Amino acid sequence: MDFDNIFLLLAAVIHFFLGFFILIKQKEKKSLAIRYYFLMALSLSLWSVFTFFFLINSNFIYDRFFLSIIFILGGFSAFFLFYFLSTFPSEEKISTINYALPTVLLLLVIYFSYFSDFIWQDIIVLKDNAKFLVFHPIGYWFYLGFLILIILKGILTLLKKYNLADKLLKKQIFYIIIGTVLGGLSGVFFSLVFTIVFPLSAWGPIATLILVVFIAYAIAKHHIFNIKVIATELLTFLVWIAILIEVFLADTLTEMLIEIGLLIFVVFFGILLIRSVLREIRIREKIESLVKELGFANKRLKEIDDQKTEFMSLASHQLRTPLTSIKGYTSMVKSGDFGKISNEQKEPLDIIFTSTENMNNLIDDFLNASRIERKKGFDYNFVVDNPINLIKGIIDNLSIQAKEKGIKFVYENKINKEVKIKFDNRTLLQAISNLIQNAIKYTNNGSVTVKISRTNNHLGFSVKDSGIGMSKEDLKMLFKRFFRSDSVKINHPEGTGLGLYLAERIILDHGGKIWAESKGIGKGSSFFITLPVVNE
Ligand code: ADP
Repeated sequence: MDFDNIFLLLAAVIHFFLGFFILIKQKEKKSLAIRYYFLMALSLSLWSVFTFFFLINSNFIYDRFFLSIIFILGGFSAFFLFYFLSTFPSEEKISTINYALPTVLLLLVIYFSYFSDFIWQDIIVLKDNAKFLVFHPIGYWFYLGFLILIILKGILTLLKKYNLADKLLKKQIFYIIIGTVLGGLSGVFFSLVFTIVFPLSAWGPIATLILVVFIAYAIAKHHIFNIKVIATELLTFLVWIAILIEVFLADTLTEMLIEIGLLIFVVFFGILLIRSVLREIRIREKIESLVKELGFANKRLKEIDDQKTEFMSLASHQLRTPLTSIKGYTSMVKSGDFGKISNEQKEPLDIIFTSTENMNNLIDDFLNASRIERKKGFDYNFVVDNPINLIKGIIDNLSIQAKEKGIKFVYENKINKEVKIKFDNRTLLQAISNLIQNAIKYTNNGSVTVKISRTNNHLGFSVKDSGIGMSKEDLKMLFKRFFRSDSVKINHPEGTGLGLYLAERIILDHGGKIWAESKGIGKGSSFFITLPVVNE
């Protein structure tokens, strides 16, 4: 057997298996287009087989039979290709004329090929078994026209869907058209045009492999892993078939036994290989679908988070207006604008005033947090100045709070030279007082030490307390929005978990750093801030 014929048999196998694999790999309901693709591949495979029989046969009667079948199968292949192109990617109604016309033409092709000599008239066989075809002058054009027209019509139908297609479908259509033009037309060329001058050869069925492979690739493209399985399975099968052929071609019994042994060995490992590829793909598919689900969940969470930020901002704005009135009127009542007030009235008014102020600060925190979420940030008014006196001011204020709680408050200023930094008065003081307030709040007895120092380029600020301390896990979460450690939630339910979140943002916006340390629960905490010094 010469090489051409072996390739022809291989082409038959590949045609069949590609069609078959695409059909069975389609997990969802099998689409009409896929079924047509399979039927086309099957027709091409049989066409290759009958071409093989025709080429190796030397009996005149059989030759005529084989050739008729070859022409019929050629017609069937183009017929199914047309339906595939018309129904890809999903079932759409094909008009009756589009159904009827190709069917009528195909019936004519079957009739002419089998029952008449309208398409081909004779076979001339030379000594070396080269077979020349003698075509009917009109029937030849009828057959050629049928093939070309039906393929072109299919291509045009598919092209119409190109504009409305998404990116992936556009790619698929592109591969299908390239495959159809290259494979389909060269198949027609080798079997009908070439044969006017040369004998019928194996090249037609081999050329149509391009068609089948391109379309298989396009179909499997939306699921790239399928290609891997198909390729593995196909290669394995090809190796099996090749060894099987070797078994039959073996000259001696020993050779045959060796080939059979080899076949068993290769079949065994081939199955193992296919199974491992399948397993890997299943795992990958699972991961893929999990990633997808996670993506959805994430998106949903983000939406909810956005809604919460929106709500936070809205609610805070609404709360602010009545608070401003309460604060304004309380202050006016306190200063006697509505008549003289007694000493008994003064105390509750003071409480109302401070509570309103606390609430105002709280609302400010919420508003600022929602501004950060919406990427708007703080409104800064930066100046370059010496901040020590300002810091000293809040420290003095807060030290009174500490003493009232019975906590020892220590303040150490180690800076003796003038130091300047670039800062925004309001927010920097907010960040620093938050650290000191927390130290006082989360220390039941013991001490709070505030230190200001300077290195070459930085102004350092630290707050150490001997309070409830923090675990390693707490330290990791400390600057996250709304974080409050479990240990404070029961004894200090009033916090918001926004203070440190805002403080970190503020310090970062000042070009500085903020961090915390603690040796563990009950072992006190230390907070540090460094800010770049401006050298003038
Ligand atoms: P709040 O104090 O309103 O809860 P913060 O953002 O200021 O919000 O602090 C967040 C959390 O960090 C606190 O709830 C607490 O768990 C922890 N924390 C902050 N400062 C200290 C500290 N000095 N000692 C122990 N825990 C602290």
